[in-house]
Amino acid sequence: MLGLMQSQPLSISSLIEFAERHHGAGEIVSRRVEGDIHRYTWRDVARRARQVARALDAGSFLFSDRIATLAWNGYRHLELYFGVSGSGRVLHTINPRLHPDQVAWIANHAEDQVLCFDATFLPIVQAIHARCPGIRQYVMLCDPGKVPADSGIPNLVSYEDWIGGQPTDYEWPSFDENSASSMCYTSGTTGNPKAALYSHRSTILHAYAAALPDVMALSARDSVLPVVPMFHVNAWGIPYSAALTGCKLVFPGPALDGKSVYELMESEKVTFAAGVPTVWQMLLGHLKPGNLRFSTLKRTVIGGSACPPAMIHAFSEDYGVDVLHAWGMTEMSPLGTLCTLKNKHLAMSPDEQMKIRLKQGRAIYGVDMKIVGDDGQEKPWDGKAYGDLYVKGPWIVREYFKGEGGNPLVDGWFPTGDVATIDEDGYMQITDRSKDVIKSGGEWISSIDIENIAMAHPAVQMAACVGMPHPKWDERPIVAVVKKPGAEVTREELLKFYEGKIAKWQVPDDVVFVDAIPLGATGKMLKTRLREMLKDYRLP
Ligand code: ADP
Repeated sequence: MLGLMQSQPLSISSLIEFAERHHGAGEIVSRRVEGDIHRYTWRDVARRARQVARALDAGSFLFSDRIATLAWNGYRHLELYFGVSGSGRVLHTINPRLHPDQVAWIANHAEDQVLCFDATFLPIVQAIHARCPGIRQYVMLCDPGKVPADSGIPNLVSYEDWIGGQPTDYEWPSFDENSASSMCYTSGTTGNPKAALYSHRSTILHAYAAALPDVMALSARDSVLPVVPMFHVNAWGIPYSAALTGCKLVFPGPALDGKSVYELMESEKVTFAAGVPTVWQMLLGHLKPGNLRFSTLKRTVIGGSACPPAMIHAFSEDYGVDVLHAWGMTEMSPLGTLCTLKNKHLAMSPDEQMKIRLKQGRAIYGVDMKIVGDDGQEKPWDGKAYGDLYVKGPWIVREYFKGEGGNPLVDGWFPTGDVATIDEDGYMQITDRSKDVIKSGGEWISSIDIENIAMAHPAVQMAACVGMPHPKWDERPIVAVVKKPGAEVTREELLKFYEGKIAKWQVPDDVVFVDAIPLGATGKMLKTRLREMLKDYRLP
């Protein structure tokens, strides 16, 4: 017997319809590429998203056609999120920090038909358009009359001209909720990038989950600033969850330096912000010298790479801001776990609580996880045994776009490539990327632990630990360190700093001071590049 409830496909268009009807006056504030501040409402987003859909219809773009963006977090990008997916096309957000060759490769692989880009990225588009014959329409996200006449790019219009003449009414089409809605390529640190292809169903379920109290706790009372880019895993789903909750959205545009982000947080009374550790490093670096405080910020979700304990301490103790440590990946839409305490932890001392908060957190309903040993057997949840982390759930990839790389699943589970422990209460802690684990004398050393300790030293700005070949132990860890400007620390002082913090055999063999640690397109440390930089290095 079937249930007798209404069946309505889950669709991204329903999010924007909801936001318009119930939160029409809710504000969206964006710092534009031009530097000025733009303000309007959810009602305006909905109206202009319909114009985007109309423009795509007028251009005879078909259901499931890929419409690409190379854009910062801003209001026009938000309109594309709803207009493109809502009308049945697939929004393909490209990471502009990739090399132009990779951008061209990705655009061709995705078979993009339209490319919408911020003025900042005009040089990238000029460099690639001749290699992307499939792109029929270029749209510069700018005001009319601002498109350079001599750009050399064919079929280029300004966004405002593209949508401006279109009617503002539109009937959103209804289709199978499993239809593709958006796509995102993984950073492809090994081999060519592969795309996760999200569906309307996976996106809506993820948006519900992301808004839950033990996840981002988003509500119509929040003013939310996603620093995490809309070109990287849909800004962790925040644009969708924002429409679902009716919160105020604040977009930083290209200005991601500490000063600009701080000023926007203060002027727009931001209560919740999301970003990767490197961005928050810049923000904290701006606050400290001027003794600045946050007047409204209450929570920040930090993920994408391990959040150094020193950062969690600084936010909570110096500034009274709750850090929610999160873990996920492109293949998971991206949220997998978030770290919030349980009722039983509330009576614990702040130090005991901190031990829990440093972990990557508990699975969100919708994500199932397990850790597995080399023998394929599941490992116990005791907080000590570690193994390869596997996940499954309705917003986790089943296969990559065009079947690239074959079937990624093992007995229905997706192997994350991370190594983790899980404790009795279900709190997961990443010890490493499986390819970054240091294997020393048959034991594993966590590069994250070594980096976290170095980062707690007052003179250290950034630290990256890699394994170096060793004749006796296979590999030994060394740590590459960037010093804070004007700060001094010697190799010996730093090695001494490890004493008592980890087992003796885990202490790195050497410290190498470097000017910078190479970062990838999503702000993560590129250890492959670091290993290349250190190819002539020999252990002492
Ligand atoms: P890619 O896998 O292509 O580099 P993702 O953004 O999807 O890009 O990265 C996902 C990976 O980032 C995870 O598998 C994990 O290794 C790492 N990661 C994400 N969040 C955290 C976190 N909070 N702590 C440690 N590692 C993290």
